Amino acid sequence: MTATYKICLLPGDGIGPEIIAEAVKVLDALGAKYDVAFEYTEALLGGAAIDATGTALPQETLEAANASDAVLLAAVGGPKWDTTDPEKPRPEQGLLGIRKALGLYTNLRPVKIFNALAGASTLKPEVIDGVDLVIVRELTGGLYFGRRERFYDEEGAGANGARGQRAYDTLEYREYEIERIARQAFEAARTRRGKVTSVDKANVLETSRLWREIVHRVHDADYPDVELEDLLVDNTAMQLINRPADFDVVVTENMFGDILSDEAAQITGSLGMLASASLGDGTALYEPSHGSAPDIAGQGVANPLAQILSVEMMLRYSFGMNEAADDVNRAVAAVLDEGWRTGDIKSPDTPDDHVVGTVKMGDLVVERL
Ligand code: NAD
Repeated sequence: MTATYKICLLPGDGIGPEIIAEAVKVLDALGAKYDVAFEYTEALLGGAAIDATGTALPQETLEAANASDAVLLAAVGGPKWDTTDPEKPRPEQGLLGIRKALGLYTNLRPVKIFNALAGASTLKPEVIDGVDLVIVRELTGGLYFGRRERFYDEEGAGANGARGQRAYDTLEYREYEIERIARQAFEAARTRRGKVTSVDKANVLETSRLWREIVHRVHDADYPDVELEDLLVDNTAMQLINRPADFDVVVTENMFGDILSDEAAQITGSLGMLASASLGDGTALYEPSHGSAPDIAGQGVANPLAQILSVEMMLRYSFGMNEAADDVNRAVAAVLDEGWRTGDIKSPDTPDDHVVGTVKMGDLVVERL
C-alpha cells in the first residue's frame, strides 16, 4: 500500500515561494521513485500573512501545521514589514510563534562541506577536509525564556543620580528539558559516526553542572555505545575552527547553541547551502538557515539547495526515508561536482554557461535523482 505523508508548505516572503517550489519538485520525484504520496497544504506565515490577515501567524496556519506530518518553511521577513512600533505585527513573530506552538525544543543544524565548494570557506582546505557535523541546540529553555526584568534602584546608580537602571535575565534548566535534548543528540549520533560532544560551562554555571550530570546519566543508562565527551563552550568556539572535522554531534543549551551554530555555519562559507530541522513532540519543521533574501526576490536567481537539503532532513527525521534522503544528498553533490552554480556560490572560474537560476538548479537536482 502506498504510504501518504501530509506536508504543510509555508513559502513565507521574499525568495520563499521560488525556492519552496523547487523543493516540491524534488519531493514529487522521490514520491514517484519510492511509491510514496506527498500531499501538500499551503498556508501563510510572516509578512504574507500580515498582509492577508493582519497577523504573522494566523490560526488556520497553526491548524494546517498541526494536521500535517511535517512542515516545510522557506523564510519570512523583508523591509516592507520592518517597524520599530511595538504595536505593529512583525514577520518574525510568525517564526517564533510557530516554533513555540509546535513545542519544537530541538534545533538540528548540519554543517557539511560539499567537496566542490571547499574553496568558498575562509579556512584552509586541509582544515575543512571531511567536515560533517551537526549542532543540536536546545530551543525552548535557558536564557531566552527565563524570568527577566529591568528596574531602578540605588545599586544600579550611574552618574545620573541616586537611582539607576538595573536588569537581569535568568538561566534555568529543568531535568526533563536536558534529558530529552540529550536523547535527541544520542539518537542522532547513532545514525551518524556515533560521537557526541556535550558543550557547557560547568566550571562556572550551576545549570551547566546539572546539564553535564544529566547528559552522562542518560548516556550511561541508554546509550553506552555512543562516545561522549564534555567540552567547555569557550574551548569549543576555538576547536570548531581549529579541528572542525573531529566533531560529529555537538549538543548544547539554547544560547551557546545560537552562537556556535552560526560559527559552525560560517565554516562552509555558503549560507545558501545550509538546512535546519526543529523537532519536538509533535509535527517537526524544516527550513533553510538563510533568510528571505529580499534583495534578490522575484529575479529567479536564488539558490534553492538549502531548501532542498531541508527536504533531505525531513525525509530522514520525519518519514524515516533514509535511502531517499541519501539520494537527495548525492544528487546535490553530483550537480555541484559537475560545476553547476547559482550566483551566490559561483567562483571567478565558474564558466558563464554553468551559472544557473533557481528553476534550472531544481531541475538539475531532479534529473540526478
Ligand atoms: P538573508 O539570509 O535573507 O540574506 C543575506 C544575504 O545572503 C543576502 O545578500 C541574500 O541575497 C543572500 N542569500 C540568502 N539566501 C540566499 C539564497 N538562497 N540564494 C542566494 N542568495 C541568498 O539575511 P538578511 O538579509 O539579514 O535578512 C533578510 C530578511 O530575512 C530579513 O527580514 C530577516 O529578518 C529575514 N530572516 C528570516 C529568517 C527566517 O525566516 N528563518 C532568517 C534570517 C533572516
